[in-house]
Amino acid sequence: MRDAAPQTIYLSDYKPFGFEVTSVSLTFDLDPTATRVKSRIAFVPKPDAGGRMFLHGEKLKLISAQIDGAPVTPDLSDEGLTCAVPDAPFIWEAEVEIDPQNNLALEGLYMSNGMYCTQCEAEGFRKITYYPDRPDVMSIFTVTINGPHPVLLSNGNPVSAADGHAEWHDPWPKPAYLFALVAGELVAHPGSFTTKSGRTVDLNLYVRPGDEGKCAFGMQALKDSMKWDEDVYGREYDLDIFNIVAVDDFNMGAMENKGLNIFNSAAVLASPETSTDTNFERIEAIIAHEYFHNWTGNRITCRDWFQLCLKEGLTVFRDSQFTSDMRSAAVKRISDVIELRGRQFPEDQGPLSHPVRPESFQEINNFYTATVYDKGAEVIGMLRRLVGADAYANALDLYFDRHDGQACTIEDWLKVFEDATGRDLTQFKRWYSQAGTPRVTVKDAWYAGNYILSFTQNLKPSATTPDPQPQVIPIVTGLLSPSGKESVPSQVLELTEATQSFTFEGLPERPVPSVLRGFSAPVVLESELSEDHAAFLLAHDTDPFNRWEAGRGLARASLLAMIRGGTDPDPKYLDGIRAVLGDAGLDPAYRALMLSLPSQSDLATALHDAGETPDPAAIWAASEAMREAQAQHLADLLPGLYADHQITESFAPDASQSGRRSLANATLSLLGRLESPERAQAQFDAADNMTQQLAGLAVLLRQKAGKSALQSFETQWKEDRLVMDKWFGLQVMQAEPDAVASTAATLTGHADFNWKNPNRFRAVLGALATHHAGFHHASGAGYRLLADWLIKLDPLNPQTTARMCSAFQTWKRYDADRQALISTELDRILALPDLSRDTTEMLTRIRGS
Ligand SMILES: [Zn+2]
Repeated sequence: MRDAAPQTIYLSDYKPFGFEVTSVSLTFDLDPTATRVKSRIAFVPKPDAGGRMFLHGEKLKLISAQIDGAPVTPDLSDEGLTCAVPDAPFIWEAEVEIDPQNNLALEGLYMSNGMYCTQCEAEGFRKITYYPDRPDVMSIFTVTINGPHPVLLSNGNPVSAADGHAEWHDPWPKPAYLFALVAGELVAHPGSFTTKSGRTVDLNLYVRPGDEGKCAFGMQALKDSMKWDEDVYGREYDLDIFNIVAVDDFNMGAMENKGLNIFNSAAVLASPETSTDTNFERIEAIIAHEYFHNWTGNRITCRDWFQLCLKEGLTVFRDSQFTSDMRSAAVKRISDVIELRGRQFPEDQGPLSHPVRPESFQEINNFYTATVYDKGAEVIGMLRRLVGADAYANALDLYFDRHDGQACTIEDWLKVFEDATGRDLTQFKRWYSQAGTPRVTVKDAWYAGNYILSFTQNLKPSATTPDPQPQVIPIVTGLLSPSGKESVPSQVLELTEATQSFTFEGLPERPVPSVLRGFSAPVVLESELSEDHAAFLLAHDTDPFNRWEAGRGLARASLLAMIRGGTDPDPKYLDGIRAVLGDAGLDPAYRALMLSLPSQSDLATALHDAGETPDPAAIWAASEAMREAQAQHLADLLPGLYADHQITESFAPDASQSGRRSLANATLSLLGRLESPERAQAQFDAADNMTQQLAGLAVLLRQKAGKSALQSFETQWKEDRLVMDKWFGLQVMQAEPDAVASTAATLTGHADFNWKNPNRFRAVLGALATHHAGFHHASGAGYRLLADWLIKLDPLNPQTTARMCSAFQTWKRYDADRQALISTELDRILALPDLSRDTTEMLTRIRGS
């Protein structure tokens, strides 16, 4: 039910809980519609506890409650209960009944294909029993599960197990959001890991019968993660067992519950036949991410949910380091920046903009955002760049020593760095409190043998940042000689003032600057340097990121000119990528990325920033024309590149093979614009792995020659839900703008469109929302279709509904007709009488006043 006036929660209102919780014992008697949960919790009042205690609890049927063995009658509300309590240590006991079968919000204890599982972050535990459901209350849990299932799992180490009964004990204090329980007919893919101190840890990946063949890769990724965290961060695993469970119905990617990670099956199950190279890399990264949380999140957790970036920013940063080490650092950095610009920049520049550490929220589920995760990780990366790798490692050691077992804040985190390095981080802290993407302008000058780079931070006020202050911005810069040699190697220019200049002396001739190497800060860099300069860097830069960035900059400038004036594609850009593509010394994955164009949404942002109104149809047309120009300009190279990067050895999802496949498939996509469908059809027919099969199908669909391939794909994979998600999504993504909404609408009528499953829902409606020209089609059909489905999903699953509302966040940059169409849809959703708190908050923020 919608609250009459949704309550806003403020960081500044934080108060510690009035009681310590010294132990928690839970007993579950499982039943699909009437599970009984008994709790026995030891509380110790703090001096100012005040004789009354509030416990969170939602959608619970209270059967009985006792304090020190005597029945009590607490005051109940929709949010929890309040009870008079002794001013000395006491034992709270309660029994509640819950209904997992009908819990379609997928928070708390719920069922997926007959199996019980939980999701408690952020505030799901209060749907399991009455408890102080806040991350700063940490305690030791013992869990007993009774149910007729072969597998009964919870956190920590197993104590006992018999038919229909299991007991688990977790010796490490944890907040309730890390609680987990799983029960069902599952099979284990076992493994084992020996830690650096010689302890053996049992590993299991639990899946539904039939999925056993998709576990080996995930298991190896887990072992690699455990080893990497020992080698790089000195962190050893701390229990006798580590379990991962794959679940089909899951709102997020995965969850780091202590010793019992629960994964969306899409984020863990992998096989060459059913998973693309992108899937493999993502699975490896998510397994690492959740495992790394064992220290950054679980052993040291967040004091309150405003500090979410403390665990998420740091852990995303750690998983990117891991992927860089396992694969190609340059390719990973470029991919992360594409993602940041595609998801976080639009958020930061629109009505949903918020600081990395927000200061207020109504529904915390709405703050699991790209800003908290991805910009949060960028902030950690900048900190490491500023203090250096050794000082960073020392500071992390101090962080783990000082705060193990605690619930911490950003202040605690920064204090560790100040103490370890002697640096004052007062100004740096603005990265946590100031919303918006900083914009920096650079220009250069040369006189009397001095080369000067001048930077200006644009401090224009905006609605979300009314009084922006200069930030600390590390700008990694190198200088090249006119012959293309590195004359001054990369160094960190530390920008702290609104305007600041850096002088390089003793250079024999005017150099060419390579600024913001490795994308050393999450800013928009506006350069007053010429396009010749970009073409030079595309040919010569020694920094792989900036070399790619130079190509992207040329493509972007050319596309914007094409959109504005119908000009032809820039030959400097086409010649530049031709040289890179033909350079066999470069990593194929890197060369494939060179062919990528700025996303159509990025181009819309660029036009909006320039004070223009983006026309999605014109952006689509220019992007298509640029693709055609790439194909024409590279026509003589493409068949050779395609042939040279075919793989004859047996399949491996490693960086080397996946890089070759990505270049072969990027060339196939361009060849599809020059040729008839035989080549794509042949690849589709011969494919023995999903990467090749799906790439062939995508080209056939765009050539409008995919009808029979689509059918045979469906026949082949009908029983595989994860592969069928790809089949649903691809048809929307490859449709022409005019046909996107109707294609998506047709697919929602397909017998296998199970809209209650978040993966399937996102496969179709998420693809609709990300097809820029299709979603923003002038007819408004895309807006209407998405709104229809959000209205349908909200009563069952507010979390996924609210998250998908962000498709509308950029609405104010479009023309008046589109704005009118969108506002009609926003108002139609907002007018629903029982709209969830999650969706209400999101749409109210997007709608604005
Ligand atoms: Zn995380």
